[in-house]
Amino acid sequence: MHIGIDLDNTVLDATSAYLHCYNKVSGLELTHEDVDDFYLYRLYGWDKTKRDEVYDSFGHDIHWNSVPFPMAVEVLQELFKQHQITIVTARPQQFQNVTMAWLEKYQIDYHHILLVEDKLQACMHYGVDVLIDDAPHYAEELAAAQKPVILFDQPYNLSIANDYVYRAMNWLEVKKQIDHLASRCK
Ligand SMILES: [Mg+2]
Repeated sequence: MHIGIDLDNTVLDATSAYLHCYNKVSGLELTHEDVDDFYLYRLYGWDKTKRDEVYDSFGHDIHWNSVPFPMAVEVLQELFKQHQITIVTARPQQFQNVTMAWLEKYQIDYHHILLVEDKLQACMHYGVDVLIDDAPHYAEELAAAQKPVILFDQPYNLSIANDYVYRAMNWLEVKKQIDHLASRCK
């Protein structure tokens, strides 16, 4: 199978890294319990311009200091042996180098990497069979196009339900869902 894999809040804990940075910039002290919005900056009362300004200055550190979720690296190493792996992240091009260096740091192998905002179009174009992601809007877009998604549980995506959306609470569950889909593909 050809598997597309998101990074932020799917492979790695981006929320912790963003909270750390945004708290420092704002002087607020938000915690994981406060996070119920995919767009974390809105919890700080910021608009997109303010968010972009902060991201431009601190994005490199946020991405470099993020830590993989438990078992993510081990499962990805397993999947790489049997499947085609494409990293599909909406991070902007300016963070491609730090993203690739981070993947190398944690010894995460992949065949291709795409930095794109339109993940549906990219998955269609490159023939990705299933996308692993946490974002509610991507899950809805892909499901509407009958592309399977493994949705990595996050507080802001729990209401998404669709026949094409499979859920995983952790990386062992991701592996199970992939094995299940792969057996159906044969
Ligand atoms: Mg994500």
